[in-house]
Amino acid sequence: MTAATITLQPSKLVPMHDGLHDAFGRRIDYLRISLTDVCNLRCVYCMPEEMQFQPRAELLQDDEVIFIVQAAARLGVRKVRLTGGEPTVRRHIVELVRRVKQVPGIQEVAMTTNGVLLTELAFPLAAAGLDRVNISVDTLDAASFQRITRWGSLHDVWSGVEAAEAAGLKPIKLNCVVTRGYNDQEVADLARLTFAHAWEVRFIELMPFGEVANFAHNAVVPYQETMAQIEQALGPLIAVPGYDGHDPSRPYRLAGAQGTLGFISSVTQPFCAGCGRVRVTADGKLRLCLLRDNEVDLLTPLRQGCSLDELQALLRVAVWGKPWGHGLAHDVVPALRVMSQIGG
Ligand code: SAM
Ligand code: SF4
Repeated sequence: MTAATITLQPSKLVPMHDGLHDAFGRRIDYLRISLTDVCNLRCVYCMPEEMQFQPRAELLQDDEVIFIVQAAARLGVRKVRLTGGEPTVRRHIVELVRRVKQVPGIQEVAMTTNGVLLTELAFPLAAAGLDRVNISVDTLDAASFQRITRWGSLHDVWSGVEAAEAAGLKPIKLNCVVTRGYNDQEVADLARLTFAHAWEVRFIELMPFGEVANFAHNAVVPYQETMAQIEQALGPLIAVPGYDGHDPSRPYRLAGAQGTLGFISSVTQPFCAGCGRVRVTADGKLRLCLLRDNEVDLLTPLRQGCSLDELQALLRVAVWGKPWGHGLAHDVVPALRVMSQIGG
């Protein structure tokens, strides 16, 4: 699979103001970087079991990742999230986290992970400067977990969650993709975790991508249905005050709970107006919207030896062209990549 890559030249079109802005007035200060397309699991909604991965030489090298973070930080990016594929399987991940955190201007480094390797890595990652983790776990049932992830053991993930908490990677956020026929009957059990733990349990609507788009289309559970199930089992959901619309996860709380619940409704109620993020794929393309195939090649200019100033100029022009939003409502589905290649 190759993505629809646009090659941009820095040009006179560079907008006049500082920082990263798009043509719709949104300021971009959050960069998500996929560190690898490889994963140690095979979640049904993310990739086919016989997934073909890209040769390592075609992926961003550590120095290239740091160069992009430096350019982005000079343009006002303050928060970086490392994702994948599975970011913890990348070689030298601890050292790379240390280097990202040391880039001047970067205030927060977070990671989205399946948690399988956190038992060994949580403490070294925290010591290297990682601030927080989102851990993906869709079920509390071992058999169901194996059905969803095909290869995973729930025990490994829970041990990873405990390690992350002990290492201070807080607040712990758990990502639960709700998939019809897999875990849609379990959402109340997952929500119940917030009574005993100060975690944020986030329910994510399934999104259609590439080869798994048909599967996803048929298995989407609208967030209203997830909320209704939780309320029926556990009582009213109380909106957490102060939500400003920037986080795609709308926060709620159950009476008496220590933690919170979040609902991410990318499909049925998009949150594009508050989007302040762009993504870099593992193969070095700037992806302007998760759910649109528009990408801008950063790898080629990097390998041609572009300077930091040139990369900054390229980022500014590229971000200016960020699409307003996705087209799922009109059946425009990102076709060229699956989620693991973009990073979520
Ligand atoms: N491997 C890591 C993990 O699973 O957390 C990071 C990469 S994964 C692609 C990032 C997030 O995307 C995870 O929370 C995962 O559950 C979610 N995800 C994957 N495929 C999805 C899909 N089709 N729709 C919605 N979320 C998806
Ligand atoms: Fe791997 Fe994460 Fe995709 Fe699951 S969701 S297959 S853990 S990249």
